[in-house]
Order: sequence, then structure tokens, then C-alpha cells
Amino acid sequence: MEFIKKAQKTAESNSEKTRDIVKNILQDIDARGEDAVRELAKKFDGWEGDFILSDEKKERLISTLSQREKDDIRFAHEQVSTFARAQRESLKEFEIESTPGVRLGQRIVPMDVAGCYVPGGRFAHACSAVMSVATAKAAGVPFVIACSPPRGESIAPAVAYAMDISGADIILEMGGVQAIATMANGLFTNRPANILVGPGNGFVAEAKAMLAGSGKCGIDVFAGPTESAIIADKTADPVTLAIDLVSQAEHGYDSPVWLYTDSRKIAEQVLELMPKIIAQHPDPEVSGSSWRDYGEIILCKDREELCKVNDEYAAEHVQVIAEDLDWWLANLGSYGSLFLGEGSTVAHGDKCSGTNHILPTKKAAHFSGGLNVHKFLKIFTYQELSKEANKTFGAIASRLCRVEGMEGHARACDWRLEKYFPNEDWD
Ligand code: NAD
Repeated sequence: MEFIKKAQKTAESNSEKTRDIVKNILQDIDARGEDAVRELAKKFDGWEGDFILSDEKKERLISTLSQREKDDIRFAHEQVSTFARAQRESLKEFEIESTPGVRLGQRIVPMDVAGCYVPGGRFAHACSAVMSVATAKAAGVPFVIACSPPRGESIAPAVAYAMDISGADIILEMGGVQAIATMANGLFTNRPANILVGPGNGFVAEAKAMLAGSGKCGIDVFAGPTESAIIADKTADPVTLAIDLVSQAEHGYDSPVWLYTDSRKIAEQVLELMPKIIAQHPDPEVSGSSWRDYGEIILCKDREELCKVNDEYAAEHVQVIAEDLDWWLANLGSYGSLFLGEGSTVAHGDKCSGTNHILPTKKAAHFSGGLNVHKFLKIFTYQELSKEANKTFGAIASRLCRVEGMEGHARACDWRLEKYFPNEDWD
């Protein structure tokens, strides 16, 4: 492979500094609870109001939206809920009799409380509210807390509406690390979240990871600053490629976009087009900076090498604009979500096509997909052994306990063998 353009920074570039900041904030909140949260909200978001959004204020915010805006958010909600319900139905409870007298089963139980973070620093991420809250509800979570940073006097009206129609039980006007810690600890709501989900900037993503590492709650996945890759062959339209790359670079200064291609001509055309398309963007500073610092164009010799590069980078979004889409579907091994063909730009999935847009970043796609209904569900197992089954299973379990040096365990098995079959010799 050959770099036609190479990044100057990677997702790890600022991580250590971010981790230190987040660690200090979490320690402060652990020590001082709600008082610390109030101070942090003032410091980072200039917020001194109530955190819980009242019904009255919510209705006032929603009334500022046009009917078209509300209809479009409802459309996104329907599509995302339809896909999420299909995911829920794909997971089944079951019970088998593995051997006569041995009943084994699986139960699926939704978590009690989910905390959904909806980013709001740069944009009003209304669709993100749908992605997390509606998916939690499709899983059957009875209590969902949703929060987002206030922008000026309130959270964005579109975000409030999306949270509301998706079924949020409490909405908090709060952002950043303090919002994540608030949901994990049940501050202001008295309902600690069992799982924290949703995307966010580096601070938010690190806070989720640290709280999960402490064992306090689960998280969906490390869903930090957006990453997008496009795989293109010689049939792709270079203008479409450049427009799509710029569309994703607008997320933030630290949002990488990568092009992998086996066509030198395409690589060179896109390299030339990028500054022109960036210059036409209303905010060329952000996409220009992320392209300069994080953008890459990689030339590969064939499809197999393209797959290898893709799987190593494991980007959050991967678009394929190439011939033989089913070959790519069968052969790509790591990505957050896949967009096949020129008709499927990332913005479709980001907003309303139906799959979830809360997706793994920083190579987390090597071990996980994105947010889905299953993340909100606990899969429990159970068993019942008859007395008769103890004859085989109790005897073998007892011997295995002693192989492992666990005498107490062995005696629990032996006790039953002697109780149920007193006339047999169990040595
Ligand atoms: P955000 O809501 O994630 O972050 C804003 C909050 O950050 C503020 O409320 C503030 O409290 C906190 N903050 C800001 N500066 C801070 C500092 N110096 N120290 C501590 N806290 C600070 O909104 P955003 O910043 O616009 O970021 C949204 C992110 O979400 C982008 O990076 C975007 O790429 C990402 N995203 C990811 C996905 C995904 O699935 N991976 C999806 C959509 C968006």
C-alpha cells in the first residue's frame, strides 16, 4: 500500500491529556456529588438553571418547531424503531432438555435504567436522541434518562422533541463528563443508570469508558469522535467521493476521513478536489482542519489489500463505492456500519434510514458493532437437574471439583448423591 496523503495525527494524539481531565472531573464528582456537577455545568456550559426539563418548558420548546421538522423527526423515529424491533425479535428465549432430567434455558431481561447521552456541543443531534432512546425502549427498558448539553437558554428544541417522542422518562439539560457521571450515579434523579449509551466528544467517550472500567455500569461502546472511510474502485465518481469525505469531516476538528482505493487516478483526483469542496463549505475551518490533520488517501494494489487496510483501520462508517457490492459485504471484516453503493451515503444512516448511528470508534469495531437492542438486554441462563440426572452429573461434577482442588464444591455434589441414592457406592 502507498499513502497518497498521510495523517499527521491519530485518534490517540490527544487521548492522554483528555483522560487526565476526565479523571479529575470524575474524582471531583465522586467527592462532592451534585455540588460539583452544578459548578462544572456553569464552567463548561455556562448553565445555572434547573437540570430536569419540566413538561411546561418541553412543550414550549417543541412549539417552536415547524410541522415539517416534527414530521421528519417522527419519520426517523419510525425507521429506527422498526429496525430495533426486528433486532429484538431476532433474539429468542429458549429452553432445552440437553439430557433426560437436565433442563437448561435462556431468559432475556431488559435493564431497569438506561442513560442516553445526546451530544450537543456543535450540533443539535436530534437523530442521536432517537438512536439511543428509541432503541432502549424497543428493548423494553422501563426507565430512560436522556441528557444533552444546553445551548444558550435550553437544549435544542429538536433534541427535546426527539427525546420526547422516543419515550425518554426524564430529560436533563446537562452535557459533558458531568452528565455522564450524573446518570451513572443517579444524581438529581435518584435512578443510577445500569448502562450509559450514546456518542460524544473525547471527554464524553473517555468518561463512559472510565465508569465502565470501574464496574459502576455498562456502556454501549467507545463512540467517540466520528470516523469515516470510503473504499472506491475506478468506477467511482471522484466528486461524490470528495463531497462525502467533506460531509463527514465537518463533525469536528478531530474527525478523520479516509479514502482507500486501488485506482491511482481516483486517488489523485480526490486529493485535488478536496480543498475545492472544503472551500465551498459554510464552515471550511473545521473540515479543512480535520482533513489536513487526520485525512488519508491510501492506494492499494487490489481488493484483498483494500480489505486488509479496511479491517486494520476498522472505521466507524465504511462506504463502498465500487463494483460487486456483495463481494465487499462478504469480505469486509471490521466496521461500525457499512454503506453499500453510491446511493447510500453516511448521512442517510446517520439520520433516518433505520440502522443505528451510535457506532464504535478508535478501532473498537475489532470487537464490537454499534448500539443495538441487545446492548440493553441481560441474557440470563437457568437450569434444573432432576434427582435421576444427579447420578451422572453429580458424580462427574464432584470428580471435576476435586481435579480443581475445590473440596467444598465436591461435597455439595456428594451430599446429594448420598441423599438421593443411599444404597449405591459413590467412591
Ligand atoms: P458533546 O455533547 O459530546 O460535548 C459537549 C460537552 O463537552 C459540553 O457540554 C462540555 O461540558 C464538555 N466539554 C467541552 N470542553 C470541555 C473541556 N475542555 N473539558 C471538559 N469538558 C468539556 O458535543 P460535541 O463537542 O459537539 O461533540 C460531539 C461528538 O460526537 C463529535 O466528536 C462527533 O464526531 C461525535 N459523534 C460520534 C458518533 C459515534 O457514533 N461515534 C455519532 C455522532 C456524533
